[in-house]
Amino acid sequence: MIKISKVKSAYNEIENVVGDDFITDKDFMKAAYSRNVDPAFPDRWADMIVRPETTEEVSEIVKIANKYKIHMVPRGGGADLVGGSVSEGGILIDLTRMNKIIEINEDDYYYIVECGVTWGALLSELHPRGLTSGVTGPGSGFAATIGGGLSNSTAGGGSTKYGLVPDVCLGVEVVLPNPQGTIVRTGSAANQYATPFCRYGVAPDFTGLFMGDVGTMGIKTKAFMRLFPDPPYKASRMYVFAKNNYDWVFEKAHKLRKEVGDGLLGLSVLPLEITMMMAARMATGPKRPRIRGPLCAINLEATDQRILDVYIEKVDEIMLKDDATRPFNFQEIDPAMKRPDTWQYNLEASFNYFHNMISVAPPKVTCTTCHKVPMSGLPELSKKAQQFDIDHNKTYPPGTMAIWAGVIAFMPNGNCIFVGGFNADNVEEKRQLSMDLWHKKIRYQVRYGGVHYWLGESISQSITEAGAFTDDFEQFFRDIKKTVDPNYLLSPNKFHLHSYESKFSDYVIPDEE
Ligand SMILES: Cc1cc2nc3c(=O)[nH]c(=O)nc-3n(C[C@H](O)[C@H](O)[C@H](O)COP(=O)(O)OP(=O)(O)OC[C@H]3O[C@@H](n4cnc5c(N)ncnc54)[C@H](O)[C@@H]3O)c2cc1C
Repeated sequence: MIKISKVKSAYNEIENVVGDDFITDKDFMKAAYSRNVDPAFPDRWADMIVRPETTEEVSEIVKIANKYKIHMVPRGGGADLVGGSVSEGGILIDLTRMNKIIEINEDDYYYIVECGVTWGALLSELHPRGLTSGVTGPGSGFAATIGGGLSNSTAGGGSTKYGLVPDVCLGVEVVLPNPQGTIVRTGSAANQYATPFCRYGVAPDFTGLFMGDVGTMGIKTKAFMRLFPDPPYKASRMYVFAKNNYDWVFEKAHKLRKEVGDGLLGLSVLPLEITMMMAARMATGPKRPRIRGPLCAINLEATDQRILDVYIEKVDEIMLKDDATRPFNFQEIDPAMKRPDTWQYNLEASFNYFHNMISVAPPKVTCTTCHKVPMSGLPELSKKAQQFDIDHNKTYPPGTMAIWAGVIAFMPNGNCIFVGGFNADNVEEKRQLSMDLWHKKIRYQVRYGGVHYWLGESISQSITEAGAFTDDFEQFFRDIKKTVDPNYLLSPNKFHLHSYESKFSDYVIPDEE
């Protein structure tokens, strides 16, 4: 509990920094900032919400927070699904005023933005110039920011080819949460004479310290990012597997990765259960669709039509060999659904692809459990992932729908994401049960080797509770945290990392059934 007089003094000092239009402790504003897009958390009210405009202002806020020992949580678009960008008491730092696109450098293929810029605003600038950010942001990208993407290790459009948002990051400008409000730049920008054109060299890769940190290590104010020419020739193909056989899915995905390489912009698989659910909702004709296995969606891109034709040929050869799959068209389950073989960039579509999946039965919202697994583990881990829901069928609150993977999204190298979760009613009496099951499910996934990436509060805590970290790792983590944040004021709830002295072992929940 922070003393009211301390909060008031900090408020007055921060008001002098940002001006009275950009700080508030009004109830209606606290209420507006009390949630992310997550269902099971109760509303949480910060003591004040601040909207800085410059890095220097962020640094001053941090100094004042340290002076009064008041905790802080950074917030971008607030589109988090796991309680990451809300704060119980303390200072909520909304970065969305820091939304400038500072430089688009087409000669050296990088761009510089303030971290509060949204993916929608960025792509609107890049696309007309024939450029792309590679990873084009999460499904929430109209509201979500680059800073949120870097902090959440976000996957999204383009991730099969380009990886996670941190994978296309060359460096950041970040304000450390220490009493000095230190401002550092990483990547080649650590050399004060250099432009931010590359990530490695100059010094150790300190950029990595701030990637996927869910706002625990620093407040990112600027991002230096890779820029790519957008290959203009695109094609998409769909296939359906003849059997519900994840050995086949692994074999085909592995081959596509090996033989199509850079042409593979997107590769995702819809489990059979999901397609059947869609078919049940959509089929209007008298015929039941002939679907007996997962659907596979492939997006290809190339710099030349001839290269694209070779990719298409290759894909058909891999997929249709040995009759494991056949071509599929969405009209088999929904005659009204026309999906062209070629596609044009469409800003709206970029951020729509995920919305139906986030809330499979509106108006419920999903307790997300998205996690990465090695793709060779698909046959075994797809079964393990489903087993939790089978075992807990009767424990879920009535009316809950659990999905181990609404889609399996393939990443570079050999991994894929089970994009799943369960939905929960946003009603008081079901919240705690949903929250407890959510943590339990994450612990279960962590223990079979799953790797979550948007960690926020619920998931980062569950990872700690699962006992994922060795004692040596914990010590390292605490020491690094102490170096950047000696008073442990930035996002103290995440990972259960409340103070230097606290112990992860106090939160570990031993093996469960
Ligand atoms: C419909 C929908 C679809 C989604 N689709 C995807 C998806 O495809 N892939 C995916 O990965 N996620 C997805 N998400 C989850 C989430 O929207 C993304 O992870 C997104 O990148 C969060 O960005 P944001 O700006 O809203 O971050 P916020 O919610 O504001 O913050 C996210 C986390 O980052 C920290 N943070 C934010 N900005 C900074 C900063 N400048 N410095 C330090 N820390 C910071 C916060 O403290 C918090 O822990 C989806 C969510 C919704 C609602």
